[in-house]
Amino acid sequence: MTNSSGHIVALRVKVRGLVQGVGFRPFVYRLALHHGLNGWIANGTDGVEIRIEGPASSVHPFMEALQHQAPAVSQIDELSSDEVIPEGLNDFRILASLDLTDETSEISPDIAVCPDCLSDLKNQARRLDYPFINCTNCGPRFSIILDFPYDRSNTTMHPFRMCSSCRKEYEDIADRRFHAQPVACSHCGPEYALHLDDKVVHNFHQIREEVSALLSEGKIIAVKGVGGYHLMCDALNEMAVGHLRSSKRHEGKPFAVIFRDLETIRKYNLLSPVEEKTLCSWQRPIVILKNRKSLAHSVSLGLNTTGAFLSYMPFHHLLFERIRQSALVLTSGNISEEPIVIGDQEALTVLAGISDAVLTYNRDIYNRTDDSVVQVIAGTPVIMRRSRGYAPAPVKMPFQVNGIFAAGAELVNCFCIGKNDRAYLSQHIGDLKNAETFEFYTEALDRFKKIFRISPHTAVADMHPDYLSTRYAHNMGLQVAEVQHHHAHIASCMAENGLDEPVIGLALDGTGYGTDGHIWGSEFLVCDYRDFTRCNHFEYMAMPGGDKAAEEPWRMGISLLHQAFGEDFPELGLPFLQKLEKERIRLLTEAIDKKINCPLSSGAGRLFDAVAAITGICLHSLHHAEAPMRLQSELDEKCEDYYEADVTQHHISFRPVIRRLCDDVLKGVSPAVISAKFHNTVMNCSMEAVKRIASETGIDKVVLSGGTFQNKYLSEKLQQNLIRNRFQVFTHSKVPCNDGGIALGQLAVAGKRING
Ligand code: ZN
Ligand code: ZN
Ligand code: FE
Repeated sequence: MTNSSGHIVALRVKVRGLVQGVGFRPFVYRLALHHGLNGWIANGTDGVEIRIEGPASSVHPFMEALQHQAPAVSQIDELSSDEVIPEGLNDFRILASLDLTDETSEISPDIAVCPDCLSDLKNQARRLDYPFINCTNCGPRFSIILDFPYDRSNTTMHPFRMCSSCRKEYEDIADRRFHAQPVACSHCGPEYALHLDDKVVHNFHQIREEVSALLSEGKIIAVKGVGGYHLMCDALNEMAVGHLRSSKRHEGKPFAVIFRDLETIRKYNLLSPVEEKTLCSWQRPIVILKNRKSLAHSVSLGLNTTGAFLSYMPFHHLLFERIRQSALVLTSGNISEEPIVIGDQEALTVLAGISDAVLTYNRDIYNRTDDSVVQVIAGTPVIMRRSRGYAPAPVKMPFQVNGIFAAGAELVNCFCIGKNDRAYLSQHIGDLKNAETFEFYTEALDRFKKIFRISPHTAVADMHPDYLSTRYAHNMGLQVAEVQHHHAHIASCMAENGLDEPVIGLALDGTGYGTDGHIWGSEFLVCDYRDFTRCNHFEYMAMPGGDKAAEEPWRMGISLLHQAFGEDFPELGLPFLQKLEKERIRLLTEAIDKKINCPLSSGAGRLFDAVAAITGICLHSLHHAEAPMRLQSELDEKCEDYYEADVTQHHISFRPVIRRLCDDVLKGVSPAVISAKFHNTVMNCSMEAVKRIASETGIDKVVLSGGTFQNKYLSEKLQQNLIRNRFQVFTHSKVPCNDGGIALGQLAVAGKRING
């Protein structure tokens, strides 16, 4: 194996990152063989260690390939190599996992079926059309892992005994299924079962025929997926989709749609190259795309976008081969706000009640993961809901966060735990006010502590005393730190961007507990991790009815009219007021005057609610973000006009904006133009306030966070404008800008206060 042209060198290589349970060791083995090199690879406590020796002319290309041809899922955070003295090794070996201490490496997220497996599906006798095909490069991971280390006995595959052929592949280092823990074939692996009213079908070919017939008849089928059950029906059949919507009580939220292929997606949606790449990534998230042609109305209820995704389970591919539909609603299998169903018995009772058939399989889902949601903003894929394909991959922090538990927010909860300099953000949990979701929260936390071998010494929570996550943190018997909601939003964005210095933080958001006892949500901060100064915010608005105002945008409409015009606003003759009973308007006005149940809010979301109501776009919303979503959906992108807000040293008043906006409504200007002018106004006045802060502080780094930045139009416009004004802009991409990302910020603040 020696090469006459090169002298023998030896390297000791350390690789840190996501390099366990992702086929990294076999990859290195095959690479060493390919280059004729000797040595070994071993899992270390914090990654892998490689010893390589051979001619220098082969070692260099090996090192190149190590970095550039690694399996898609692996992520190399650090790679270091030291030259050592050659030992004259005469083969390459994968050393058995050494006894693991409490140090763990990473756990891989679930991976969409790979192209090689899709080809095997048509060519390998034991796996012809076998829906549980997988290899080291693909298949379930996090969803089936019970404990660490990642071995078959620690997954829900443990009841399945490998047949001799599978075992051979599993043990053959040169095979693509070497050490693929969920390896299976039609002789030895899991199986689907279709539960119909009068029978249970086990034969997979027959299952496909039955499912195909059901879909054509407009029926709803509950289908077991990777991280939970889905509900499925024909996305072009309005009767079916409408029926699904009413039985699921999935109020007002758009349904996700799985498409046959990219070509079909292109037929129904506009698609940029980045969106295409995201749809085809191994994570296979739901990608929010602009509509070109409509599906059934009940899919997205008139919004101009669709949450689209492509097949990621072998089953999806095999299904599309048989059915004539090219687009299926595939929405999470749950009722209302409950967590997605993962148990087969629960599916057969709860989901059977709202579907015509239940398709299960006999491998358990252990860790619940919803489909993740991504939106491409300013050319970057931005995660909106982080779960399947992403969790539990860690975020590397700029400092130590060991032993800290961050409890998250409440409505869109994720928690986070720290180990060394890694932040492990949980999968999407949901609304903790739902009892089942809260149970999922505590269960997922117990599992994270176990899998990652962490016992927290500090808990960190939101300042909101009534958040269930805050109460939970206080009941853990640990030292508790509290972080203001919008400070946490900005810290979260700083952390994922590796920033550790004072920045201008702009948090545009719905709701968050403020330090002055009011509800915050449009905060211009100057902050670092330790502390923040609130420099500016939108003028406080009365929220008549408190939380009710968030559900009923017309209340905010009246509040802002009252603020801008005083008592006389009913005389303006605005069309939206005519849709409301006079007595209700009078009572609400009285409540505002007398300050009865009218908390004050600076929430950007509430301002958007008010404008959605005044323009008649959305008076009543079925979920908390519906009004702003509809307002954006209506917007005329060609309009560059705007209103003038009053930007002062400490607050931004929208009174003049509301007055001009009402003039437009009364003149009959289209809601689309008014929406655009309003969006442009928010962008302009934010810009002006940021500029003032920059001129006073000399800071030129601007960090954007908060749920309002899910608004693609506003987000892109503001970023462009900031960059044009020579600011450095930092936005989210790895964790959500909504409350799903809060826990990371809480962790960062606590970490810095303790360790920084
Ligand atoms: Zn594969
Ligand atoms: Zn087998
Ligand atoms: Fe928030």
